[in-house]
Amino acid sequence: MRERALDLLACPACGGDLLLAYASKYEQKEVIDGQLTCKKCVREYGITGGIPRFVDLAKLESDKAETAENFGWQWTHFTQEDPRYSDQLLGWLQPVKPEFFSGKTILEGGCGKGRHTKLAAEWGAADVVGVDMGDGVESAFALTRHLPNVHIVQADIFKLPVKRAFDYAFSVGVLHHTPDPRRAFTSLVSKVKPGGHASAWVYGAENNEWITNYVDPIRTGFTSQIRQPLLYQLSKLPTLGLFLTTKLVYRPVNAISRSAASRLFYNDYLSHLASFGWREQHNIVFDHLVAPTAFYISKKEFERWWQEIGAEDVQITWHNRNSWCGFGRVA
Ligand SMILES: [Zn+2]
Repeated sequence: MRERALDLLACPACGGDLLLAYASKYEQKEVIDGQLTCKKCVREYGITGGIPRFVDLAKLESDKAETAENFGWQWTHFTQEDPRYSDQLLGWLQPVKPEFFSGKTILEGGCGKGRHTKLAAEWGAADVVGVDMGDGVESAFALTRHLPNVHIVQADIFKLPVKRAFDYAFSVGVLHHTPDPRRAFTSLVSKVKPGGHASAWVYGAENNEWITNYVDPIRTGFTSQIRQPLLYQLSKLPTLGLFLTTKLVYRPVNAISRSAASRLFYNDYLSHLASFGWREQHNIVFDHLVAPTAFYISKKEFERWWQEIGAEDVQITWHNRNSWCGFGRVA
């Protein structure tokens, strides 16, 4: 943790300013081990491995702890980087462009292994705070520690340990895995300064009935319950099916005839996946099977979230015909 992060951090319990009570280990001007104390309520929060810790996984509600653990395993094992991450992120954040990040103070709700936090920093953000609840923070910290404007924090999206100090907050693929996606969204957006912006990307209810009907029972009843190393191996089988289908069917058909391709099942998404290699596809399959909680949000419901926070100039975009991207100005 760099000390400049204290300008953005706040006590998640009372909102008070935090003080670096002591640092027992420094590396390159970064606090590796130490302790933060709230100036107001005097609660204490540890810093270990360079990361301020605001969540005690042992004391967390069981559904949140399970999600944190399962995704945490994912992000400490699928640490690959892919050159398509930036295009992918821009797809989820549309209509935002890299220039938009320049000079802004940014919050990412659910940073996983930090791949988007890193991009935000590289696109010129003044400061980026990446928050995640699980062990993914260790990977995120390692991936971004050369970037002085990145601050990785372990915390709960419902109790964010930050001030209302951000120009832009975004969350991709995370809200729908929390026990209450709408409340997680409201919590994230509450940290954006008036006039700032927010983006969210969520699974759509529309067009995903086949997942909710056939994949979800397997996910909730089996794959999210087994040990992650076993799921890692088992998920190679559906990945093989996906890999061969996208490479041997979706890619060539899309290259030859757009009208024929449009008749293929789930074409927008599967043709998009066709550009990814084995490792990334395995990661995507694993990601779909590991989550203990997943909600599919209808457009109507998603629009309501934005209305409820009083957002202006809201743009909702249908992405790959299976998910929703939202962008708006926070009042
Ligand atoms: Zn406090």
